[in-house]
Amino acid sequence: MDGIKVIENADGKRYSSFLSGGKIKKLYLPENENEVVRAVEYLTEKNEKFFILGNGTNTLISDDGVGNVMCLKRVKGIEVRGAEIVGRCGETMKSLFRAAERNGLSGLEELSGIPGTLGGALTMNAGAFGAEIGDYVTEITVLHGGIVQKIQKSDLWFSYRDSVVKKKGYVVLSATLRLKRKDKNLIAARAKECETIRRAAQPDSPSLGSTFKKHDLVSAAYYIDALNLKGFSEGGAKVSEKHAGFIINSGGATSRDYKILSDAISDKVKCAFGVSLEREIEIIGNI
Ligand SMILES: Cc1cc2nc3c(=O)[nH]c(=O)nc-3n(C[C@H](O)[C@H](O)[C@H](O)COP(=O)(O)OP(=O)(O)OC[C@H]3O[C@@H](n4cnc5c(N)ncnc54)[C@H](O)[C@@H]3O)c2cc1C
Repeated sequence: MDGIKVIENADGKRYSSFLSGGKIKKLYLPENENEVVRAVEYLTEKNEKFFILGNGTNTLISDDGVGNVMCLKRVKGIEVRGAEIVGRCGETMKSLFRAAERNGLSGLEELSGIPGTLGGALTMNAGAFGAEIGDYVTEITVLHGGIVQKIQKSDLWFSYRDSVVKKKGYVVLSATLRLKRKDKNLIAARAKECETIRRAAQPDSPSLGSTFKKHDLVSAAYYIDALNLKGFSEGGAKVSEKHAGFIINSGGATSRDYKILSDAISDKVKCAFGVSLEREIEIIGNI
């Protein structure tokens, strides 16, 4: 592809924060919106399917490998316009927060520790400490059906770990977030407070964050913990001793280990409580 970085047989382990996965046959790494549009056009013309990836912090990649993947984490850029921040899809939540903090704009403090990109956060409607990214979005620019379109707030919807982006299969290029003016010290203090709580509660080992969604407002960790499943493992995949909602890679875990372990957890929770846990993480390829 003219000028666009493509890696053949890329190591999938480098593109998922669980550090598992087989080869990515062709990994496209566009660096700006124009390159994303060209790469998508190219694959669409060739009738080739592809998966979109941000930072891979919510995505498990098949051990058997996958075909085409377009990783958008290099599509960077942030502009601050008054109380609004326009971010390109590959910006991390941390960078967006830092830009907001520098400009005395509040809203992203609670989300600053989520390790994904803006594109991933919008797809998943990522949230923490009672805040969700969808609360702040006023407009997104997407590529859909070969056309770059701006979608206004009235046509956007976000719900718990779900969004119009996921449902419609939009490729998010950028988004505008409307924030509120606040004292910079208060912004910094709140972000620090959230970070401290996060560090105390979450494991340091590689993971994909929470494996399952909440069920009727009750965290999956509650059920998993109640069954004493901390430390329960399959191969290198293990339920974190620190946070029952996280499956960690304790060394050499495969994606299959993760899948077998998460299925076993679901079965046990269903059997004991009659609750069907829904997976929060995304899987690409066959596992
Ligand atoms: C330690 C840890 C802590 C976490 N804490 C939280 C938390 O507090 N709250 C929370 O909600 N999540 C949390 N997560 C999960 C994860 O970080 C979020 O879901 C994050 O928003 C995913 O972003 P990403 O860029 O890594 O997405 P990826 O995993 O790369 O992709 C996730 C989905 O988004 C799609 N996608 C990515 N970019 C785009 C784009 N530009 N256009 C269209 N689709 C796109 C992908 O196709 C995929 O379906 C945590 C994960 C870890 C590892």
